Amino acid sequence: MKVQEIQCRSALNLSKIPGMDYCLNPYVGCSHGCIYCYATFMKRFRNHQEEWGSFVDAKVNFADVLRKEVRKKRIGMVAIGTVQDGYQPVEAKYQITSQSIGILVENNFPFEILTKSSLIVRDLDLFKRYEKASVELTLTTLDENVRKLFEPKASSVQARLQTLEKLLANDIETTVFFGPVIPYFSDSPEQLRRFFAQMQKIGVSRILVDKLNYLESKIGKIIRKISNNYAPAIPYYRNILRDQIGYKISLRRRVKEVASDFKIAVEVLF
Ligand code: SF4
Repeated sequence: MKVQEIQCRSALNLSKIPGMDYCLNPYVGCSHGCIYCYATFMKRFRNHQEEWGSFVDAKVNFADVLRKEVRKKRIGMVAIGTVQDGYQPVEAKYQITSQSIGILVENNFPFEILTKSSLIVRDLDLFKRYEKASVELTLTTLDENVRKLFEPKASSVQARLQTLEKLLANDIETTVFFGPVIPYFSDSPEQLRRFFAQMQKIGVSRILVDKLNYLESKIGKIIRKISNNYAPAIPYYRNILRDQIGYKISLRRRVKEVASDFKIAVEVLF
C-alpha cells in the first residue's frame, strides 16, 4: 500500500447526490479496493497509474481547510465518503475523518457517513449524542468468501454486523446500504431472504438497495476474480450484460417481493 501525504485546497465540495449539499473526502484513493468501485475515476485527478486499492493520498491539511470553510459556507447536509471510505485503514493513523466530524459537530452541520469499515465505532462518542449524524453502512453479501472477492480489504461481514449492532445500540440513525446487490452471489430470492432476515434479527429498520452499475467497465475485473472458484457465474454475468434492462426489472421485482415479508423499510434505488 502506497500512502502519500498531500495538501488540499478545499474540503467541503458541492454535491450532486440528491439530499446532500456537500461531500467530504479526506483521502484520495481507497485501500478497500472493491472490484466494482465507481470511484476509480479519481485516479486521473492525481495522475495515479497504480491499481485502484493500492494507493491512498492523505490530505493532511484537511481539517485546517475545513475549519476555515465551515465559517464561510452556509450550513448544509454533508455526505462523508463519496469517492473513498473515510474509515479505510489509514484513518486509524491520520484521523482526518475523525477531526472533520468534530468540526462539523462544533459548527452544527448535519452529516451522513457512508462506510464499509468497523473503524467507525472508534468515533461513536464523537457523534452519538449529535442528532444531525447518520450512518449508511454498506453490506453487499453475508458470505465472507464473496466479500473477500469483491471487497478484499474492507471490514469482514462479521465485523460489519457487529458494527451495525453497536450503532443501533447507541441510537445512531443507521441505514444499511445493500448495494450493489452482487449478481449470482446476492441476488437470488433465497439470498435476498437470508439477507433481510439477518437485518431484521439485528434490528435494522431501513435498507437502501442498489444494483451493480457500469457493468461494462467492471466485467473484465469481475470475471478475472471469479473465474477460478465460481466459473458458473460467468455466463450469468454475460447474460446480464446482454440484457441489463431485463435484469434490472427482474431484480427490482425480486427485491420488492422478498422485502414485503419483513418489517423493514426497503427502498429500491433503481
Ligand atoms: S469502499 Fe467505496 S470507495 Fe472504497 S473501494 Fe470500496 S466502493 Fe470504492
